[in-house]
Amino acid sequence: MLEQDIKEVLVTREEIQEAVNRLGEQLTKEYKDKEVVVVGILRGASIFMADIVRAMDVYLEIDFMDVSSYGDAFESSGEVKIIKDLDTHLEGRHVLVVEDIIDTGRTLKYLVDLFKYRKAASVQVCTLLDKPARRVVKDIIPDYVGLEVPDEFVVGYGLDFEQKYRNLPYIGVLKPEIYQ
Ligand code: 5GP
Ligand code: MG
Ligand code: MG
Repeated sequence: MLEQDIKEVLVTREEIQEAVNRLGEQLTKEYKDKEVVVVGILRGASIFMADIVRAMDVYLEIDFMDVSSYGDAFESSGEVKIIKDLDTHLEGRHVLVVEDIIDTGRTLKYLVDLFKYRKAASVQVCTLLDKPARRVVKDIIPDYVGLEVPDEFVVGYGLDFEQKYRNLPYIGVLKPEIYQ
């Protein structure tokens, strides 16, 4: 059913799984001696979050934050509103932010600055997808990247179009008639 709306698969289930395993190994090394609070950004990162924490063999806590960037469906504005804040006190804690995709970089810039302001001991960023062609905030360089994608609007594995398609098990591009 969902499959009919997809023009092209950009990242297969297997490629996602490989990326998760590779990142999980790197993050296990990074955080084996420092307990980390893994912060998933709702709702897009929820599926990736569930997979990546299970690929990390370390002591960790998880928490979620829900933010909305003002803007239209396709581009964030940089003005970020907190819909749900963390329940975890971050002072002195190592923080790993887990995102679905970095596009302009505005959302992450806001979050990284916020967590530093809250006196986190360290703030690192892990994103499943990176769309470097669209970066506006130049000083946002993700520490861990699953895969780079071209400048196309993608859905699946957590990423939505009008709140749908998050449950697709792969990353794809929608047929143009779906947007119309
Ligand atoms: P940024 O602030 O980096 O421009 O955008 C970050 C957020 O915009 C992402 O977390 C994601 O929710 C949304 N976004 C950016 N690019 C895409 C895309 O290609 N597909 C979908 N579904 N969401 C995107
Ligand atoms: Mg997101
Ligand atoms: Mg969205």
